[in-house]
Amino acid sequence: MSGPGEFELIREYFASRIQAGEPGSGAARSVELGIGDDCALLNPPAGKMLATSVDTLVADVHFPADADPYKIASRALRVNLSDLAAMNATPLWFTLALTLPENSAEWLEPFARGLADTARQHGITLVGGDTTKGPLSITIQVTGTCERPLRRDGAGAGDHIFVSGPLGAATAALPIVTGKEPVSNEQRQQADAAYYFPEPQFEIAHLIGDYASAALDISDGLLGDLGHICEASDLGAELTTEQVPVAALVETMLRKQGEEDMPTRALETALTGGDDYQLCFTVPEQHLQAVFDTGAAHGLPITAIGRMTAEKGIRLLRSGSPWQPEHTGYRHF
Ligand SMILES: [Mg+2]
Repeated sequence: MSGPGEFELIREYFASRIQAGEPGSGAARSVELGIGDDCALLNPPAGKMLATSVDTLVADVHFPADADPYKIASRALRVNLSDLAAMNATPLWFTLALTLPENSAEWLEPFARGLADTARQHGITLVGGDTTKGPLSITIQVTGTCERPLRRDGAGAGDHIFVSGPLGAATAALPIVTGKEPVSNEQRQQADAAYYFPEPQFEIAHLIGDYASAALDISDGLLGDLGHICEASDLGAELTTEQVPVAALVETMLRKQGEEDMPTRALETALTGGDDYQLCFTVPEQHLQAVFDTGAAHGLPITAIGRMTAEKGIRLLRSGSPWQPEHTGYRHF
C-alpha cells in the first residue's frame, strides 16, 4: 500500500480517534495495552464469560461501494454489535481488518469518524487492526462480556415467539440507498436510519434476559432466522401473520411503487426481508406476563407473534388459514 505504512495508517486514522472508552469505564480499565504492539493486552472481567463474533462486509454485496464512508463504518460496526446484543452481551473491544483499493484520506477520514462515533455510542474500544490493499471489504471482530447468554438452542415447545420491533425497513430502504428510487428527504433519512444505523438491541436483550429461553438477531429475515432457533431447539413454530409488525417504510415504498396487493407484499417483506437487526426471542409461558409488564414499563415495541411447536417446520396462519409467502423481500443488490 502506498502512502503511510500499515501501522501509521491505523494510528493516524483510528487510534487517535477511538480512545479506550470513557476514562474510568469498564472498557477503558480492561485495556492493558491497545493498538501499536504485536498484540493488544486485555484484562477480561473476572467471573464473566467473553462473547465474541466476527463479520465481514464486502462492497457491493453488503453495502454500495460508493456510499458515504461514515455510514459504511456505522453499518459495519452496528451489525457486529447486534450479534453481541442478541447474545445479551455487553460490548468491550473490537478489532478491524480493512481491505482498501487505495489509501485515500478522503475515504479514511469519514470512515474513521463514523467508526469512532459508533464505538463511543456503544462503549466499545478499538484494540487492534490490519490494513491490506484490494477490493473494499471490512472485517470487524467484537468481544463483550456475558453473564446471562441468550442462546438459540434454549426454546421449549409452547414458548411464545416475540420480535423486538417492526420489520422490513432495511429491505424497503434498499432501492433508496442504492439511488434507484427518487424519494423525499424525509424518506431518504428513514432509509438511511434503517440501513446504515440499525440499533443493536442491547436494552431489550438486557431487560428480557432473565425471561427469554432463546434469542437471535434478525439479519437474514424473520422466517430464516426463526428457522435457526427451531433447528437449534429441535422444534417448529406457528406464526399469526396479523401480529407481525411491518415497518412504516415498507408500506410507503410499496404504495410508491403502485403495488396492488399491498398488505400481502408488506407482510412478505416483513417476514423475509433481512438487515433489520431486530431481535427474535422466545419466552416460556410462566414468564409471559413479566415480559409484557417489562415491555409496558419501559415502552418497548416488542410484539408476540406466535408459539414454538413440537411439530417441526414453520407454519404461517393468515386470517386463521395456512398461508405461505409467494415472494421474498430479502435480496442483496
Ligand atoms: Mg446474529
